[in-house]
Amino acid sequence: MTLQDRDKLHLWHPLTQHKLHPDTIAIKKAKGCILYDENNNEYIDAIASWYTCMYGHCNPYITNKVSEQMQQLDQVIFSGFTHEPAVNLSEALVNILPDNQEKIFFSDNGSTSVEIGIKMALQYHFNQGKKKDTLLAFEDGFHGDTFGAMSVSGLSVYNGPFEDFFLNVKRIPTPTADTIENILKTLEELNNTCNIAGFVYEPLVQGAAAMKMHSPEGLNAILKFCKANHIITVADEVMTGFGKTGKHFASLHLETYPDIMCLSKALTGGLLPMALTTCSKRIYDAFYSNDISKGLFHGHTYSANPLACTAALASIELLQTEAIQNNISRITASHKTFKNRIKNHPKVKTTRQTGIIFALDLNTKMERYGNLRDKLFNFFMSKGIFLRPLGNTIYIQAPYVISQNQLEKIYKAIEEALEII
Ligand SMILES: *Cc1c(COP(=O)(O)O)cnc(C)c1O
Repeated sequence: MTLQDRDKLHLWHPLTQHKLHPDTIAIKKAKGCILYDENNNEYIDAIASWYTCMYGHCNPYITNKVSEQMQQLDQVIFSGFTHEPAVNLSEALVNILPDNQEKIFFSDNGSTSVEIGIKMALQYHFNQGKKKDTLLAFEDGFHGDTFGAMSVSGLSVYNGPFEDFFLNVKRIPTPTADTIENILKTLEELNNTCNIAGFVYEPLVQGAAAMKMHSPEGLNAILKFCKANHIITVADEVMTGFGKTGKHFASLHLETYPDIMCLSKALTGGLLPMALTTCSKRIYDAFYSNDISKGLFHGHTYSANPLACTAALASIELLQTEAIQNNISRITASHKTFKNRIKNHPKVKTTRQTGIIFALDLNTKMERYGNLRDKLFNFFMSKGIFLRPLGNTIYIQAPYVISQNQLEKIYKAIEEALEII
């Protein structure tokens, strides 16, 4: 029996309607930018396995560090204990994070990092005797699949069964130069009528909204409003963090830094699952007290797993190398050239780019997981390219180590795809 067949007996995959999509692709190994399936077909991983493996699969610098670490200390409780990988990681992070970020709290995935950000924002006010019961978020944001994270995500048909159980959330559109004045007016009204505890947002690029992008100016104005009105700002950089936007973090493109940041995905270079919620001293100080109940009583069993911390530290070291920074510049310039090459194609409606994130919308009707999406996906796979179109959007978020030759193969497959739709 093939892996594909054995999989069908017991496995239930994420975000999958198994009746419509019974077949999975069994991957045997991965190296650099290439995935190898059980029939030895090769695919260029043009979305870095959901934006995680930015330094290439099985990067030897990261795997060597982790295999050394696993001879030394594998796992230990992080309540009342600490260890060198966590301390080293905290120092490296504080060096590259926006300079108001001082404290780092560990969890296991992007959704929980947002969950913790929300709890920090709510309890920040609670600890000062204020009950604020409403959160603010963008209409088309995505923040994960746990309840708090689902609540602040823009409403999706997939959330239907759970909506009655959500937190109170008010939504605003992502800003453009034309709409920002109105959004600020709406904010003013909302702030007068609700007790807004915090604003949760994806800065500059909204991944699950098919790489929707907004400029820093409008977001700056919203963040300034929040600061002036004691609304805690929670930047969900789970996707944008660690170099994707051309700076180490999207928040570094903005004038107002967030109070709280959520990080995961590329944090460990894809080797191990881990997430972080970081915050400023002001947030931390609201929990620092002789009163035990003012502490943040949240904790996951695998908090600050030493192996994941080691992978994260090695990844940050790689991010800061000249080689990776040069690659980021090369990929950014290369996408720009490609964008100019295809932006006037009759099948292309719009193109957009922030750093190494490139997206184009096709001139077709939007069907998020419809037939066109499957047709495109299968076409790309037949060309040896793993791309995962969202509705009528095709986007690239390739590992930083992708070669120019591999990038050209991706571009060529996209150009060929425009001819079959
Ligand atoms: C992926 C993602 C999440 C959720 O992370 P998981 O690790 O899948 O739980 C949250 N926010 C953003 C912006 C993401 O891209």
